[in-house]
Amino acid sequence: MPEAGRAAPQPSPGVKLEAKSPFELRVNLGKDVPETDVRAALATGEMGFLHSFTTGATVDGPGVRVVAWTTGCNFRCLYCHNPDTWTMTNGIPVSVARATEELGKYRHGLRVMRGGFTLSGGEPLMQHKFALKLLTAAKGMDIHTALDTNGWYGDRLEDEDLQAIDLVLLDIKSWDPERHRRLTGMDIAPTLQFAERLARKRRPIWLRYVLVPSLTDDLDDIAKLAEFAAGLGTVERVDVLPFHQMGKYKWDRLHLDYQLRNLDPPPQSVVDRVVGVFRAAGLTAY
Ligand code: SF4
Repeated sequence: MPEAGRAAPQPSPGVKLEAKSPFELRVNLGKDVPETDVRAALATGEMGFLHSFTTGATVDGPGVRVVAWTTGCNFRCLYCHNPDTWTMTNGIPVSVARATEELGKYRHGLRVMRGGFTLSGGEPLMQHKFALKLLTAAKGMDIHTALDTNGWYGDRLEDEDLQAIDLVLLDIKSWDPERHRRLTGMDIAPTLQFAERLARKRRPIWLRYVLVPSLTDDLDDIAKLAEFAAGLGTVERVDVLPFHQMGKYKWDRLHLDYQLRNLDPPPQSVVDRVVGVFRAAGLTAY
């Protein structure tokens, strides 16, 4: 939120909120926003930073989705395919009102197609107040809402806030705490605690698991994760997402050290086996 009496920073002319896909590289779009405004935006949630809006996604929740991709992430996943979303000020500064207006354009179509709105990232809960305002605004337009999160900042949401989120797409990166730390740079415990809290509150979860050869393909670990997920009782579906190289050019363009550049995606037979492990625990998995 800018200082009182000052207009909210706006995207530079020519920068569109809508992108063809999140794989468009976007950097420094909010670099001119003063640090004080960034801090104020985080404190009030009246303004947030978005990488882009994309439409037509079918893998980020039920039906056809409009997805808003936030910038800012507390993880540093070795396989991240959108490292340009790590830095909040790479995103476009957007007021809640402007983002809601953009979303409103799709409300009728989304209802007809039984789709909805997904807030993804980056990690949306880095800007949890903005995230909550936007999800609440979507609910106010009678749009189904989903939050795609690594869950680490789940405790920033109060129990009543969870009512603005119809579905949590919870990304669990690894079961083994040590591997999780190597893979993401962060502890797994807060993510699992958020999963347990969502379950206690009977909130629907879709679990997302990125399958990376040699990093997250240990079947014993996956079986333990599957047992945990099945025990939650509110996991409606598991999506096994094969690692891919579509974000490689971003690592190069950002001059980041991409350790997985020579890694091939997992073969379909391995994907099928992993899906089978989740199914064997009684979960619906794809
Ligand atoms: S949590 Fe998502 S956005 Fe953040 S580093 Fe991992 S893959 Fe990238």
